Amino acid sequence: MDTEARLLIHPSDQPSPFTSTVTDVNEDWIRLASTEFYPTGGGQPHDTGSMSWNEGRCQVIDVKGRNEVLHQIEGELPVVGTIVDCSIDAPRRIRLAQMHTAQHLASALADEVWGAETVGNQIGIETTRIDLKFEDRDAFDPLDLIERINDEIRSNHAVRMDHRSLDNLRNDPNVRISLDRIPNVSSLRTIEIEDIDVCPCAGTHVGSTGEIPEVAFDASKSKGAGKLRVSYRFA
Ligand SMILES: [Zn+2]
Repeated sequence: MDTEARLLIHPSDQPSPFTSTVTDVNEDWIRLASTEFYPTGGGQPHDTGSMSWNEGRCQVIDVKGRNEVLHQIEGELPVVGTIVDCSIDAPRRIRLAQMHTAQHLASALADEVWGAETVGNQIGIETTRIDLKFEDRDAFDPLDLIERINDEIRSNHAVRMDHRSLDNLRNDPNVRISLDRIPNVSSLRTIEIEDIDVCPCAGTHVGSTGEIPEVAFDASKSKGAGKLRVSYRFA
């Protein structure tokens, strides 16, 4: 198993350069002993960036996998054992961390106000979409949701990370999501936005909601009985 050093880092919207060792090369995909690159998962797209060593340099164009994180390389390939200096594309990381943290607010507020369950999401650079399942879809007002998200952005709540047990999360009323499919490991990386939301999450987040630009409504469309796909962008 690779070390996903990124999981210990929060907030993670200002990625620092890091150094690691190449442990495997398979065509244009490489593994590192330890990585801070975010692999696609949880509805959030991967990081991009670069690696350099002695006279060599390459771009990281895709990152995937859990436990075994693979980095797709464009340019020169380092050989196994090479110590590489890694740099993550910061503007992309910042944008995705802002969009992702806004999604926590959106899901929590949709649950709080309309009893909606988030059944899917796709974080994007330009727009982010959330699939919401309602008891009474007609009662929902997407513009009201957007205004509530912006209220919480302006309130500048702290976004904190800790590690909790599944039992601890089951007893916390601020946990909005179903924990049925969460693995019962001894410690779950948990993201808490003051008294708004508590959620086991491996994604990247800003350190306070005031670092998120205000959001604007983008679109909503039906996704079947009781479900709506709502998307937002930055205003
Ligand atoms: Zn998250």
